[in-house]
Amino acid sequence: MKNISILGSTGSIGVNTLDIVARNPSRFKVVALAAGRNLSLFKRQIDKFGPEIVSVIDDEHAGKLREMLGYPVVPKILSGDSGYREVASWKKTDMVVSAISGAAGLPPTIEAIDAGKDIALANKETMVMAGELVIARAASRGVNIIPVDSEHGAIFQCLKGHNKKEVKRLVLTASGGPFLNLPLERFASISLDDALQHPNWEMGRKITIDSASMMNKGLEIIEARWLFDMNIDKIDVCVHPQSIVHSMVEYIDGSVIAQMGVPDMRGPISYALSYPERLQGAVETLDLCSVGALEFMSPDSGKFPALELAYAAAGKGGSAPAALNASNEVAVGAFIEGKIRFVDIALIVKEVLDSHRTKEINRVEDVLDADCRGRARAREVIEKRMIS
Ligand code: MG
Repeated sequence: MKNISILGSTGSIGVNTLDIVARNPSRFKVVALAAGRNLSLFKRQIDKFGPEIVSVIDDEHAGKLREMLGYPVVPKILSGDSGYREVASWKKTDMVVSAISGAAGLPPTIEAIDAGKDIALANKETMVMAGELVIARAASRGVNIIPVDSEHGAIFQCLKGHNKKEVKRLVLTASGGPFLNLPLERFASISLDDALQHPNWEMGRKITIDSASMMNKGLEIIEARWLFDMNIDKIDVCVHPQSIVHSMVEYIDGSVIAQMGVPDMRGPISYALSYPERLQGAVETLDLCSVGALEFMSPDSGKFPALELAYAAAGKGGSAPAALNASNEVAVGAFIEGKIRFVDIALIVKEVLDSHRTKEINRVEDVLDADCRGRARAREVIEKRMIS
């Protein structure tokens, strides 16, 4: 029996994780859950899975949750950063599913690593912002970090049983998002609703918009750089609209190993939870004969400048990727609020990166400082644009 904590249980990764737990009650038990503000769903999850400890975003929501659950059948209810950290390091937990979206997922993930918990990592910002630190810390504590992101889960599987010295390059596949075939001249009028229509994957709003701009793939190349200790110039992106090949590894002899499956997040989540074993019937069978054609093409950097920005930030190293991520989060937030256009997101990130003074990352505080500087600068740039 593996005891599991989930950070971000009401998000799409959290919900899928709980579905896997519910279907495999003899293998997994939920002991701790953390969510944000979606109390009605969180209450149903608590009633169904009976965790020992839970946490929500703040005191106000903790109070409401306490009322909703009623006395005396309540788990320990906590809130805020300290609550998330306690869920992440709960004594009975064997594995933490890190699925809080955005930079907020970093501190509790580090707390879990320091407590010696294995990590099923869905929060890519942990690697983008603090990859070098996190990998070193996990290694020193003997912690396994198993990727949940479908591309990284695929590469993790494609590397298994092979000699890493013989890897020529990693190829991350990208669906291309909803605007793959939209002509460049129409990008200026993309609406929020347009950007929220992902062709293949059901995900939260932030990551869906990142997929539409391809910043998601940019963050993923940085994630891959640290997860697999691979130079950034050995990580390529290939657009593959069907999302059947989840990513590939090319070896020095020209052989390419690909991992395939239906596009269903329960695949990579199941593998991370049960690693090194596989779960029976985690996802539906892939019937390639009925899929028919699989297409592959190069990304269009004119339409999707975010990808080049991510390569540039990764090349600079140090605090640059944290600033990239921070400014993108702020810009996507402004786009969701209707303050800026879709195409402004990459322009804002570029302006922040161009003026960012890159510093070394030696401690978590350095990461948080880079994050703060990136956010503040992005807000300045947005304000300036709104006035002019
Ligand atoms: Mg992904």
